[in-house]
Amino acid sequence: MEEGARSCLLRFRHRLEQDIKPSYLMDHMISDGVMSVDEEERIRTQPTRKDQAVALLELLLRKDNRAYISFYNALVKETYDDLANLLYDDLPQISAKAHKSSSDGWTPHVQMVLSEGGVPQRPVVFVSRPELLNRVRERLYRLQKEPGWVTVFGMAGSGKSVLAAEAVRHQGIIEECFPGGVHWLSIGQLDKPDLLVKIQSLCFRLEQSLDSQSLHRPPNSLDEAKERLRFLMLRRYPRSLLILDDIWDSTVLKVFDIQCRILLTTRNRSLTDSVSGAKYEVEVASGLDENKGLEILALYTKSNPQGLPEEARSIVRECKGSPLVVSLIGALLKEKPNRWRYYLCQLQQKQFKRIRKSSSYDYDALDQAMAASIEVLPDEHQELYKDLTVLEKDIKIPAKVLSILWDLEPEEVEDILEEFVNKSLLFVDSHNKPYLYYLHDLQLDFLVEQNRTQLESLHTKVVRQYQQHYRDDPPTSGDEECLYWIRFLTYHMARANLSQELYSLMFSLDWVSIKAQIMGPAHLINDYVEYGPILDKENSEVRSQFQEFLSLNGHQLEQRPFPDVVQLALSQPPTSEVYRQALLQAQDRASKG
Ligand code: ADP
Repeated sequence: MEEGARSCLLRFRHRLEQDIKPSYLMDHMISDGVMSVDEEERIRTQPTRKDQAVALLELLLRKDNRAYISFYNALVKETYDDLANLLYDDLPQISAKAHKSSSDGWTPHVQMVLSEGGVPQRPVVFVSRPELLNRVRERLYRLQKEPGWVTVFGMAGSGKSVLAAEAVRHQGIIEECFPGGVHWLSIGQLDKPDLLVKIQSLCFRLEQSLDSQSLHRPPNSLDEAKERLRFLMLRRYPRSLLILDDIWDSTVLKVFDIQCRILLTTRNRSLTDSVSGAKYEVEVASGLDENKGLEILALYTKSNPQGLPEEARSIVRECKGSPLVVSLIGALLKEKPNRWRYYLCQLQQKQFKRIRKSSSYDYDALDQAMAASIEVLPDEHQELYKDLTVLEKDIKIPAKVLSILWDLEPEEVEDILEEFVNKSLLFVDSHNKPYLYYLHDLQLDFLVEQNRTQLESLHTKVVRQYQQHYRDDPPTSGDEECLYWIRFLTYHMARANLSQELYSLMFSLDWVSIKAQIMGPAHLINDYVEYGPILDKENSEVRSQFQEFLSLNGHQLEQRPFPDVVQLALSQPPTSEVYRQALLQAQDRASKG
């Protein structure tokens, strides 16, 4: 079998093994004459469907081009369209055609590489910024032969992330510079435990796609994570690109200083001063030029840029060309196409007098546009949107969390979220299943500013809704929704000033066990440090007993299979609250036999 086809099978082996039903596919392959009845028999006698799939792939890899084509056809006939698409590009006879680029260098292969690497899709309404784009791509080409850094810097909301994603949506870049793939990581403002969790999941992702049986323990310190990543990038993913979106802090960058290829977006131009290697940069001007701004408005209102009313230019100017603000106004005009003058006046109002610390950027336009977009929502949806104020920056959440927070059916929640997304009030990551939703940083700033006096009650609502929903059965699985609660429940309790709730949660061995199992101990230890002052008001001794238990057993709690926490806790001093709870549980177990 030719190299391309073979490599394709190897790359998608895991996906194929997960999904295919070998018995159906083999029938087609036998009738194509690429497989013997004996071979089929040997596969059929494997105990499970998965074992059969593994054996089929194993056999296929030893066969020729014809077998690959027959397998592909069988997938199509059995309507495994997604899987067939994965193999399509490398079909031996038609690969030349398949690789022929569409006009902007965007092939199914490119699309698949980006989707696997978690690169966000284009926003619903998108305009290209060819000059900037070429500048970024030209820098990326310089990473073809050697590792290094490309920094895309500029103001918040200027379109850096969209630009970074667009830069790699290009056949030449993917095939010539980064044949090892592209991996997107949203960073934002985060502390060390969160950074560790991010790198752990990156390593997990990278290891999984190489080897479905990967049983590596997750790295349990940033140093270890750095070494693991260095190994993976150097040995297993040579010539791949890491995209680090929205970096704030050079200490974060140091963890990635491992001689690989990195594209990063940031508001701070000088971040890469502290790391080694070749460095290139591209500045993103804070605004789109006027014609691009008009193009966005034209796309939203389905008109021709030349035919826009005279207010359009003034609107773009008032928005200072910010793509985020223009998109908010565009979405409003889509629904009320005769309100050009009205929205221009709204933008010109100076209703928000906020003192912004960090920047000369004029946020007035954003605030006005946000206020206008929220105002057109039905009253009850305005209230629901306000609930998003309590989300942490750069955190993406599944609809199910909101369905608990809002106490609404998932279908209803989806409709509401779609409305927010259509108004550019919210963004969606649809690579992920389930879809994940998030706000732009600046939108969150706006909400926090606007609802400053209600923060406590908004956080309280989150906790109360959680308590009501999980009254009987706390979340324990690792799915996106449970992950959210396990990660952020303490944060909401602390912000809600619900100290009593926070104590009972964090002074409970059950909680420690669940959180350590799902998120690893680093996060948990961080909770005790961060909320230490609150916990100490209740009982500083118990707080330190829990903390001590975690620091002593941190490495054990990293192990998989996960250890028996009650057993571990029984080796604490008998005066410790941790010991007391473990003993109760042990007695309870014994009495139940
Ligand atoms: P940054 O990363 O600089 O904070 P983003 O890239 O997240 O900014 O862009 C903010 C928003 O602006 C996007 O969500 C999108 O709505 C809009 N936007 C950015 N670039 C474009 C573009 N090229 N075309 C259309 N809209 C854009």
